[in-house]
Amino acid sequence: MKSTLFASLPLKAAMLKNLASLDYHEMTPIQADSLPLILSGTDVIAQAKTGSGKTAAFGIGLLSRIVVPRFCIQGLVLCPTRELADQVSKELRRLARLIENVKILTLCGGVPFGPQFGSLEHGAHIVVGTPGRILDHLGRGSLDLKSLRMLVLDEADRMLDMGFKDDLDVIVAATPRNRQTLLFSATYPPSIATMSASIQQHPLTVKVDATH
Ligand code: ADP
Ligand code: MG
Repeated sequence: MKSTLFASLPLKAAMLKNLASLDYHEMTPIQADSLPLILSGTDVIAQAKTGSGKTAAFGIGLLSRIVVPRFCIQGLVLCPTRELADQVSKELRRLARLIENVKILTLCGGVPFGPQFGSLEHGAHIVVGTPGRILDHLGRGSLDLKSLRMLVLDEADRMLDMGFKDDLDVIVAATPRNRQTLLFSATYPPSIATMSASIQQHPLTVKVDATH
């Protein structure tokens, strides 16, 4: 049987040490199924109910694949709401605690642009944000996604329900084609399949049923 311990994955020593200090020893089912694929660079559609540990699945993937000495935006996580973006940033910062010099920046609406312009000038490895504000920054030329290597759509079903499809298309078009794209969702409506077909390449689907 496949081991479900984080220690069975090819993770950096600092990441494993930090996970242990957070009391994360065993992967949750969605983490065990998706993380090996994410670490290998594959495009993934991951579906599992709320509370199943999806944030750490893509978060550990992101933090393991970014190249810290290359100081440019390599990862972008899009979330449907400011509250969710704040939660994701918080979890990413917890996961990144023992990895030196990783910069994570949150860009959401409802707050002034000024400080965000300043933060963008200082740079970041990973940006977490809501589609509207990310699109605003792209339009103003304050955000450059040309170095992006990983794009994560978190709660993709909710973002589509909320009418972000057109915004997402514009944002995706501003990123390199050869990026890795991860779609995380609690449900799998036909709109997710359509979205996947237009933004992912040879994606693999991992699904953890609510009954598991
Ligand atoms: P989802 O995005 O699937 O709704 P979250 O990523 O918010 O779920 O995770 C739910 C909770 O589980 C969080 O409090 C998180 O800290 C915790 N968690 C995630 N992965 C693990 C793990 N492998 N071991 C223990 N706790 C975990
Ligand atoms: Mg989540």
